[in-house]
Amino acid sequence: MPPLASKGTYQKPPQKRLFVALMGVTCLLVVGLIYLGWYIPTMGLANIHPDLPRIVGMVFAVLSGIAVLGTALLVLTTAFGKDILGTKFMRGVVIKFLLPLIEQMGKLCGISKDTIRQSFVAMNNSLVISQRLKVKPDRILILLPHCLQLAECEIKVTGEINKCMRCGRCDIMGLADLAQRYQVDISVATGGTLARKVIIEKRPKLVLAVACERDLTSGIKDCYPLPVIGVLNDRPFGPCFNTRVDVEKIDAALRSVLA
Ligand code: SF4
Repeated sequence: MPPLASKGTYQKPPQKRLFVALMGVTCLLVVGLIYLGWYIPTMGLANIHPDLPRIVGMVFAVLSGIAVLGTALLVLTTAFGKDILGTKFMRGVVIKFLLPLIEQMGKLCGISKDTIRQSFVAMNNSLVISQRLKVKPDRILILLPHCLQLAECEIKVTGEINKCMRCGRCDIMGLADLAQRYQVDISVATGGTLARKVIIEKRPKLVLAVACERDLTSGIKDCYPLPVIGVLNDRPFGPCFNTRVDVEKIDAALRSVLA
């Protein structure tokens, strides 16, 4: 079997720049559509009442203003890393409304869904970190995918990671040690259903999840409003097989939220 990726060979973290740029373009399009939505019907509205085009125009202007201000606020929040105004609510807007729009926008521009999702995860992390949450160790849950465990390992760590014999052939060892050091909950889940079950059982205040961009995106969506920090796994042998994660990244993310 080829050796697992060594320390220092992990892929570069995804950038939120792409998501921010597409957010700007989407905002301009939304404003354009709002304008068209106002302009076309108002041509006939004046026949009903002469003031009607002005009133409808004001409503559409307010909607456009909200779209532009919301986008500006999101950009400033992620740029300064500070909870300027309603970051939690803004994260909901990004997850529920902007992500589907931006995925469509990316499709039109020939950008793959996975690239958009990677950038979305980076944007989401930035918004969660902007909230400057400080959470007690026993309310943090580290959620890992099963594929981080070496496929040849005969120990079943799902449900009880401390069964790991710490042989060091996969990253489960470093992650189990990390969880023990900080006294945080850690679970290995075999899929989305089990991950949801673990979250319901443990009722964490913050989840630090490791997965591929697809699972992280659906996990972040499903868990909202629960804050989730997502860390992408590396897949040197293809998807869902002997994947890797930089334990130092998890350590740094933990330290940024631990009370
Ligand atoms: S570190 Fe733990 S989980 Fe990984 S191969 Fe060794 S015993 Fe198995």
